[in-house]
Parts: sequence; C-alpha cells; structure tokens
Amino acid sequence: MPIRILPEEVASRIAAGEVIERPASVVKELVENSIDAGAGDIKVEIQEGGRRLIRVIDDGEGISADDVPVAFERYATSKLGAVEDLSHIATLGFRGEALSSIAAVSQVTVTTKARGEEVGTMLRLEGGRVVRHEPHGAAQGTVVTVENLFYNTPARLKFLRSEATEGRHVTELVTCYAMAFPRLRFGLLSDGRSTFQSKGSGDLYEVLMDVYGLETAEQMLRIRGDSTTQSAIAVHGFVSDPALHRSSGRYLITLVNGRWVRDRLISYAIREAYHTLLPRGRHPIAVVKVELPPDQVDVNVHPAKSEVRFRNSGEAFAAVQKAVRQTLSRKAPVPRASSSFGWERALEMRQRGLVEVGRSMRPTRGELALELHRTGDQAATATGAPPKGKLPMLRVLGQLGGTYVIAEGPTGMFLIDQHAAHERVLYERFQTERAEARVSSQRLLEPLVVQPGPGQAALMEERLVSLKEFGFEIEPFGGDTYLVRAVPAILQGTDLTQTILDIADEADNRDGVDSWQEMVTISLACHGAARAGQTLSVQQMRELVRQLEETELPRTCPHGRPTMLHVSAEQLQREFGRK
Ligand code: ADP
Ligand code: MG
Repeated sequence: MPIRILPEEVASRIAAGEVIERPASVVKELVENSIDAGAGDIKVEIQEGGRRLIRVIDDGEGISADDVPVAFERYATSKLGAVEDLSHIATLGFRGEALSSIAAVSQVTVTTKARGEEVGTMLRLEGGRVVRHEPHGAAQGTVVTVENLFYNTPARLKFLRSEATEGRHVTELVTCYAMAFPRLRFGLLSDGRSTFQSKGSGDLYEVLMDVYGLETAEQMLRIRGDSTTQSAIAVHGFVSDPALHRSSGRYLITLVNGRWVRDRLISYAIREAYHTLLPRGRHPIAVVKVELPPDQVDVNVHPAKSEVRFRNSGEAFAAVQKAVRQTLSRKAPVPRASSSFGWERALEMRQRGLVEVGRSMRPTRGELALELHRTGDQAATATGAPPKGKLPMLRVLGQLGGTYVIAEGPTGMFLIDQHAAHERVLYERFQTERAEARVSSQRLLEPLVVQPGPGQAALMEERLVSLKEFGFEIEPFGGDTYLVRAVPAILQGTDLTQTILDIADEADNRDGVDSWQEMVTISLACHGAARAGQTLSVQQMRELVRQLEETELPRTCPHGRPTMLHVSAEQLQREFGRK
C-alpha cells in the first residue's frame, strides 16, 4: 500500500483512543473540566457502569454561546495561550483534546450557560458531527451527557469489562477527586442510586470517612510535614496505621498538585517508608498529596495526564518518604504480623518464663484450626492408611523465634516455616472440602457489619452466591453495607473484616471466576493459618508436622514459597569439620 494521510474521521478516532479508554476516562476529563471551571458542586451520573450514559453536572462558570462549538474542536482550549505556558500549568486540563475525543466516540449533549448570559446553549454531536445546536434555557454551569460510548468503535467496546467493574473505576475516580478537592461537593449516582456524596467541608478527613467508612478512617494517621525544613515540596494527607492493610495496591492514592496520578516514584517512597512494618504482599491505604510549584513538575507526559515528571525527582522522593516515615514513627506502631516482631516477642516471652504459652495466651486461631481435625487424622493413622506425603518421618524438637518449627528426620535437620506449612495444610483441606461441598461453616453470634467501599459493593454482590460455597453467609444491608452471618470455620478467631475486604478487593479478578475462587482459597488458608510470631506448644507443632505430611505438596505453600529448609546430616558434619 502506498503511504497516505488518514482521513480525518479515522485519525480523530485513533487520537480519541489515547485519551478515552473507558467510561472512567470520560468521567475524569469531564470532572477535571468542572474543577477548572471553578465549580463548587459536581454531580456525576452513570447508567450501566457508564457504558449507556455518563452525565456530569457542574455549577461552574459555563461556556459562552459563541465558544460552545469551538470547545469541541480538537486542540481547542481556554487554558493555554503560548508554548511557554506549558512549563507552569495550574489547571487540570490544558491540551484541548478531551471534549473532541469524547465527541468522536460517543453521542454528546452539552447544555451550558455562562455567567452573565441570558439564555444558555445546547449542542449535540454524534460521532463528532454536530446534529443540533440551539439556544436553550439552563442554570449557570455546564451539563455534559455522554451516551453510548464507543458505539462507533466496536474494537474499543469489546475491551470494556463488566458494568460493575467499569462502575467501580468511575467510583474510584470520583472518590479520588473528592479527596483531592475536599472543598468541593462531589456526588455519584449509579443507575439512579446515590452511591457517594462528599460534603465539601474542606476537611480531607471527612472525605475519608465518606469514602472508606468510619472504622477505616479512624485507623488513618494524618501526615504532618516537618515545618523546619525549607522545601518547595509540601506533603499532606493520610496514611494507614501499619495494622491496617489491604491485599490490593489500589488504595495507595497519590495526588500531585490536585491531579490523581500513578506515580511509581511516589508510591515507592510511601512503601519504603513502611519498610518492614507491613506483612509481605500487603499494601497500605494512603492518600498522599504532593504540592509543589507548577514549574517544578511536567504534567505533559501522558495522553491521559495520569503521569507526571518531577524536575527534581530525588527531592520529591525524599520529601514523601520522610513525611510518611515521620508520621509512622511518631505513632510508634507495633506491627501485627511481621516476622521480626515474632522473633523478638518470642524471645521476650521466653525470658519472662512464658515458654508454655499455650496456657498463658488466649486460645489462638492456630490451636483451633489444628484441633478441629485431630481425631480424623488419628483415625487415619490407626487404620494404617499410608501417608500421601513425600516427607520423611519428622520428630519435632522445638520452635525457633516463634516462627519456625525445628524437627529432625532420618537425613538431618528441618526448619519448617509454621505459617507456610499451615497454609499448605489448610489450602488442601479447603480444596477437598469445597469439592465435596462440605466446607464447615461457623455462624457468628452477632452478625458482623462490613463496608467494602462504594465501588466494591456491586462487585461483592455478584460474588455472594459463590461465597456461599466457601462457607460465608453474607447479605446486603442497604447502601454499601453487608451483614456477615457465617464464615468458614477455619477463620475462627481471625480478623474477619480484613479477610472479607481482601476477598471483595479481588472480586473483579481479570482472569475470571475460577481464578478468583482459587485466590479466595489461598486467601482463606493464609488468613486461617498460624502466624509467624505465634508460639506453638509441642503438641501443636507435632500436629502441624503430621498434617503437613499428609498433604499432596508439602514442600511449598500455596503462594509457592518453601515450607521448609533442610540441613542434611552431611552438611552438618562438614560444617563442624567432622568429615
Ligand atoms: P482542556 O480542558 O484541555 O482545555 P477540553 O477539551 O477538556 O480541553 O475542554 C475545552 C474547553 O471547553 C476548555 O478549555 C473550557 O474552556 C471549556 N469547557 C469544557 N468543559 C467545561 C465546563 N464544565 N465548564 C466550563 N467550560 C468548560
Ligand atoms: Mg479538559
């Protein structure tokens, strides 16, 4: 084929794809325009996760009648005059690409009235072409309605995910902007139901409560920057107490000059500040606002403006890390389940003569789970059922650091990671029980109230039936609230809220229901298993080792990490120079 210039229509749809990927991208662009227009109240409405309809209503300064058609031209903007302006952008928009991109791939209607105008204007475009344009009565401000997104780009349409998932992305976006601009009132209406509303009081903490609920907000720590340092970079916001964490990294929100961005550097700085305070694979909840002079940061990096580049990235990194670190250390938190904690605590207890912790501590989850199947296992051994496992016979000698079981076998010494080993045991047991539809469920004396957060609720709803198979009984309780009436028995004594929120977080797993169920099984095993740092009695350790021997794959935990380390008799001889 010869080289030729693409027809305008094709070119504009390709360009639109850079900016508009899904309903949430439309909401992002429209909300940013409302904020730039000085709105105090922004209402977002979606139908069918935004695939059918997206509407953003603001009370901003409006668009004057003459400007309305211009606003939909490509590269039409009132926010940027000359190329120099690019180096200090103070508005969220600047490229003049959003409205034209949205119009190219949907049916858009805008009604708007600028300050001081008598009547407003209505303009409708379909696939980028104006089909109606007339004077129209309107309140001051702008209403943009986007219908049938991607109706003329089937390839894009195919890549959209379920209504619930697209809806969650929209919710995530609206709540992020509510946190970025606590002074503005944000409302979200999904299929006619109000799913989020912020008050616009100006207090970020109040928005946190609106987004995550009171219980979570109460465990958030306010970042207090160090006022003694002379830095052009200010860091504000909230980070979660290390005892509060999630399985998904989605709750780590970074806002740079009010812009929600995915910034690896800032996220890394936050994670670094937590260092060993969080268990492996867990993520904090954080809303970190970085403010710096506009000329210190380049926002013209990414088509959807979701990335920035700092002029001095080292300084930005250090400022964030320091602010978060100071916030965390001021609190002097005691992490719940990190392995270093286990080690020290175990030594301390030993020194205090509390070695037989089985008695001095209240019954723990490890004990309960191990107890449950004791009789069954004994019966199996008594009838001489051959052990399935590929482990040698092990004799338990003791526990190290409250974390590892020391055992000896015919070929030397074994160090067994008690958490990993127990995870393997519970994982396989759970799989079998589920396959045979006999998961033991435990009714709670009092139902537990969980609040998975606005966008997550719809996803959770889709999975409720499936969760029943796992021994959960969960029912909707109005709004985003759910009542948990029963849980799988292996979760007895664990932090149920945390587990359930983790499972809800993963509910839109990309790889479908099967892999979600696998993930739930792993998660339940993980939450139900004895923790590192939990002192076990000799009896419990023996039981654990025996159960591990019975498993199909005793040498790795369900995450693929090893459950044990072997030091052979030969190795020992070599180390001691006996050979
Ligand atoms: P940009 O935001 O980059 O300028 P857009 O395509 O998003 O580009 O918008 C084009 C122009 O339309 C804006 O510069 C602004 O003047 C006007 N505009 C868009 N939305 C609104 C709104 N909600 N209120 C007032 N003016 C708006
Ligand atoms: Mg814009």
